[in-house]
Amino acid sequence: MTAQLKLTRRAFLSDAALLTVVAAANARLGSQAPDTFVQTVLGLIPASKLGVTLVHEHVMCDFVGAEETNRHRWEVEAVVKRMLPVLRQLKERGVTGFIDCTPAYIGRDPRVLKQLAQETGLHIVTNTGYYGGADDKFVPMHAYGATPDQLADLWVAEFVHGIEDTGVKPGFIKIGIDEIKGSSDRLSPIDEKLVRASARASRQSHLAVTCHTGGGPAGLTATKIFIEERADPGCFIVAHSDGHGLPINRAVAALGAWVSFDGIGRQPLESHLKLVHAMAKNHASRLLLSQDSGWYWVGQQNGGEVRNYNYLSDVFLPALHNSGISEATIRKLMVENPANAFAIRCQR
Ligand SMILES: [Zn+2]
Repeated sequence: MTAQLKLTRRAFLSDAALLTVVAAANARLGSQAPDTFVQTVLGLIPASKLGVTLVHEHVMCDFVGAEETNRHRWEVEAVVKRMLPVLRQLKERGVTGFIDCTPAYIGRDPRVLKQLAQETGLHIVTNTGYYGGADDKFVPMHAYGATPDQLADLWVAEFVHGIEDTGVKPGFIKIGIDEIKGSSDRLSPIDEKLVRASARASRQSHLAVTCHTGGGPAGLTATKIFIEERADPGCFIVAHSDGHGLPINRAVAALGAWVSFDGIGRQPLESHLKLVHAMAKNHASRLLLSQDSGWYWVGQQNGGEVRNYNYLSDVFLPALHNSGISEATIRKLMVENPANAFAIRCQR
């Protein structure tokens, strides 16, 4: 018996296409097929196979801006050569899942990620969506004239048909929002549009959304908009929550969304340990950890200075354990929660 997916029927052609993909995967996996999957750059894997996972890292970034970035600005081989040893170090540490959070128009290149996944054996996941942080420098012009539904359709189309000519499918949606100065709990029209589009695309595709958030109140507002759009809060990840303060973090978790402390290593060890303890007490099942590390910086000599991805494994997790957090909770944070957050959800 293969697992059956019960997908909602509101989506247009995406359900049929997704069913075909998942049915094929189920057939390959045989009778033990679980009913949730993660879409990696090499194809669907059972969510249970994702393993120890870094949920917010970057292989490559190009910060030149949405209107100027293009594939001619980097060489796939050069990026792979530079980043391969850095990623191999991760594999040696027992990490198996790597969520690449670089969105389109900031250097997302599935060709690079695919090659790195093949050569390292890491489960690398890429994304669809647009990034409205950094004063919207990375939002392509066409997004301003588009409706939320039109943006959602573009992103779902990438999920169904693959990204550009690569055949690689996104495993989540990445968006970004800024806070409005002087009115930190409101979003600009374009940022609000990105959140609504992500919610609609998530409802159709069952993909998770990682939202870069400039400021806690904006992150909480985005979570509420996501829910107002009738998307599943369990599909919404508030990135960069380490700077948002506990009241906001708790409010986000209480709404059922994910709190992502993805700047581990960027604050003193003690302050991050404290943060994790405070959240793990009541909200361990809503908490994600990562480092926002990397990356090959397009335009700099050989990618510039790359920050490796080893701090969590080498320093932070041992310190967390020594400070009284159990193995079981650490497993939850590093294995179960990422699998739960990035599983393409069915039967909701
Ligand atoms: Zn990031």
